[in-house]
Amino acid sequence: MGFPAQRLRRLRTNESIRGLVRENHLSAGNFVLPLFAVPGSKVRREIAALPGNYQLSIDCLVEEAVEARALGIPAILLFGVPQARDELGSGSYAEDGIVQEAVRAVKHAVPGILVITDVCACEYMTNGHCGIMKDGYLDNDLSLDLMSKIALSHAEAGSDMVAPAAMLDGQIQAIRKTLDAHGFHNLPIMAYSAKFASSLYDPFFKEGTQSVVSFGDKRTHQMDFFNSDEAMREIALDIEEGADIVMVKPALFYLDIVYRAKQEFQMPLAVYDVSGEYAMIDAAARMGRLDRDAIMLEALSCMKRAGADFIITYFAKRAAELLRSHEQLASSHVEDKAPEPRLATVR
Ligand SMILES: [Zn+2]
Repeated sequence: MGFPAQRLRRLRTNESIRGLVRENHLSAGNFVLPLFAVPGSKVRREIAALPGNYQLSIDCLVEEAVEARALGIPAILLFGVPQARDELGSGSYAEDGIVQEAVRAVKHAVPGILVITDVCACEYMTNGHCGIMKDGYLDNDLSLDLMSKIALSHAEAGSDMVAPAAMLDGQIQAIRKTLDAHGFHNLPIMAYSAKFASSLYDPFFKEGTQSVVSFGDKRTHQMDFFNSDEAMREIALDIEEGADIVMVKPALFYLDIVYRAKQEFQMPLAVYDVSGEYAMIDAAARMGRLDRDAIMLEALSCMKRAGADFIITYFAKRAAELLRSHEQLASSHVEDKAPEPRLATVR
């Protein structure tokens, strides 16, 4: 039975009816805000490629977490930019390291917010690599010990969830074992399971953490962006090793992977809407080519539709503000206004 009995436009007549039959929803509760902790106090340095995002000393980072919480954002993801780097990435697991201190401060001042910590060594290594390099190659098994040490130091500082990001083989198992052995069996792991070797990370490393690799690249551990079956194998292994949440990164060019991951595994699924995605939208908006707010909400909504349960995004605060004002607008319409005209009168 087709036209004229079937008229799909009937359910698109006005916002109330569109909202009623909407299949997916976006809310501040779906967002995780990435934050960059730097040494010092009263430091609030805007990241040029990510306007509206800052390198923050811990006092300012706490304020940012308070604001995020007030906007309904449930979680932050912490990255550290240390005072000094070395060949062993020792700042990554130091008890008084930048991330460890930031975790303590946020947990103390904003107890309601979930603090997730990124587990990797690249921000702490002189060479910018994710783990221990041997003859120009990232040594997998040596680096596992390092990852376990980093995760444990985050747990001890009070992190609510650790997020191993290095794409090493066996890292989820190694970290799970270490956490369990130290009594952190209830601490969840969010695995960067299908993290692709993408140029979309450039703004993060060039300006966010200033930890660009000094030689080589990350294609021996991060995934080849031509591949999709391999992403499913990565996710399957992480689940087997004990991941509680799996992730696809980046998001926008990779929604086929997001969709497939949700269909195949039915696991809690995160996507990381990365710095390059933010920078592209921001640049296009500055040039007057795209409507910043509209394209931002469309992009985030499409990540949800593809299958993401939540989104790590530099847009979190702006999107939460907009969604809040949309909701207020919608509820005032329901209360104050007569129903919109019926279909028969709409042309
Ligand atoms: Zn790394």
